Amino acid sequence: KPVLLWLRQDLRLSDQAALTAAASEGPVIPVYILDDESPRQWAMGGAARWWLHHSLSRLDESLRDKGSRLILRRGKSVDVLAALAKEVGASRIHALHHYEPWWRNAEKAVARLLDLCLHDGGLLLPPGAVRTGAGGMYRIYTPFARAVMEHMPPPPPHPAPAHIEAPTQWPKSESLESWALLPTKPDWAPGFAKDWTPGEKGARANVANFLDEAGDYPTARNLPSIEGTSRLSAHLHFGEVTPAYVWHRVESSGHDATIFLKELIWRDYAHVQICELPTYGSANARTDFDRLNWRDLREAGPDFTAWKTGRTGYPIVDAGMRQLWMTGWMHNRVRMIAASFLIKHLLIDWRHGARWFWDTLVDADYANNSVNWQWVAGSGVDANLFTRIMAPLTQSDKFDAADYIREWVPELADLSDAVIHDPDAHGARASNYPAKIIGHREGRERALEAYRRSKG
Ligand code: FAD
Repeated sequence: KPVLLWLRQDLRLSDQAALTAAASEGPVIPVYILDDESPRQWAMGGAARWWLHHSLSRLDESLRDKGSRLILRRGKSVDVLAALAKEVGASRIHALHHYEPWWRNAEKAVARLLDLCLHDGGLLLPPGAVRTGAGGMYRIYTPFARAVMEHMPPPPPHPAPAHIEAPTQWPKSESLESWALLPTKPDWAPGFAKDWTPGEKGARANVANFLDEAGDYPTARNLPSIEGTSRLSAHLHFGEVTPAYVWHRVESSGHDATIFLKELIWRDYAHVQICELPTYGSANARTDFDRLNWRDLREAGPDFTAWKTGRTGYPIVDAGMRQLWMTGWMHNRVRMIAASFLIKHLLIDWRHGARWFWDTLVDADYANNSVNWQWVAGSGVDANLFTRIMAPLTQSDKFDAADYIREWVPELADLSDAVIHDPDAHGARASNYPAKIIGHREGRERALEAYRRSKG
């Protein structure tokens, strides 16, 4: 009797506990379901779909190398799995835990109908493995990180099974092309392939490349002009590589990797938060923020468009927003600057920004995106103060973003390091580059005033 392997954000064969368990039991039918129904408003965004297409295609190749293949189906997960199990005579399903609220609901629904075995492996530690003295989940990052560190290193990653037994007859698979995951009219992703190699092999190659640079990470990670970070976020989101694998490789590189490893712990932290508060993506974690009077998009619409299209007149913000559009990724420091500018200088609700990121990031991740947006807004459980307002022009200078701006805002490419961060102030603005849509001081004061009023 075959067993089903339900793949989601775990598109790999190594260190895949669900696959290992399934393969030890007999013939395996690996299935990926394109499910836009369970997540509803959180159905995968455009850039992530681009990634998914390539990742699934690579996964099918790797499965074929092992005598297996990937079955593709579309629909609501529980319905598809129930129908497929009936069709092939399976009653048992292996899968990894996923913590997005829609996946947890889907798991519950599947477990009511079939024998669902869930395994760990997408995080360094499953949520709940470390708890506060009072027995609750950690809500603050620093003590959480300290507690996680005590359990590290994670268990060593295990290899992919040498062979995966095929069923006597394969069920029908839909074709990947019929899912139309790649943009066509227009193709807004022509630059993506240059930057990214989705799939397990690409993920591992990225880890290997990063090892040489891991020693510089503590300073390099803040400089958008250089490639100072691992660029593993989408690989980790789609589960092409596990954080345990990354941990072991980086730790054995001989560099002091503590700061990098703590970023991996941020990822675990964010997932714990969405378990505690499943609405993290759509509701303020601190409800006092519900009283903040954001600008109405009917009035602020042109400013929102300027932000999305990289035409705010703030070079560092515009460079970030254009990098996002062109490559599906943005440097972390610039994500913070661009998000802060939207929330505070433009006084636009963080949820609108988070939505735009959801659609445009190849690494769009419900936990990481929601927790980071709320961190910047100040409305998160553990967050920056709303009143601590980032000065984008100072940040740009401090973190040496001149080359980064030249790359993404070609209108300003001829400007010197001294003026490129704030061409307006030096009378050096190119004629085809917009003036600032709001002054720094003006934006700051409006934000502080709105905040004061929300406090009544
Ligand atoms: P590295 O610096 O090399 O870090 C290694 C890994 O650690 C990352 O791949 C990521 O998995 C994890 N990590 C690093 N920083 C964070 C963080 N602050 N929070 C959680 N995990 C982290 N990250 C996403 O994966 N998906 C998102 O949708 C997302 N949205 C964000 C929105 C905003 C407003 C901000 C400020 C940050 C967001 N981040 C998100 C976090 C962070 O910016 C990215 O994980 C990082 O830039 C990815 O690049 P990297 O892989 O080179 O990171």
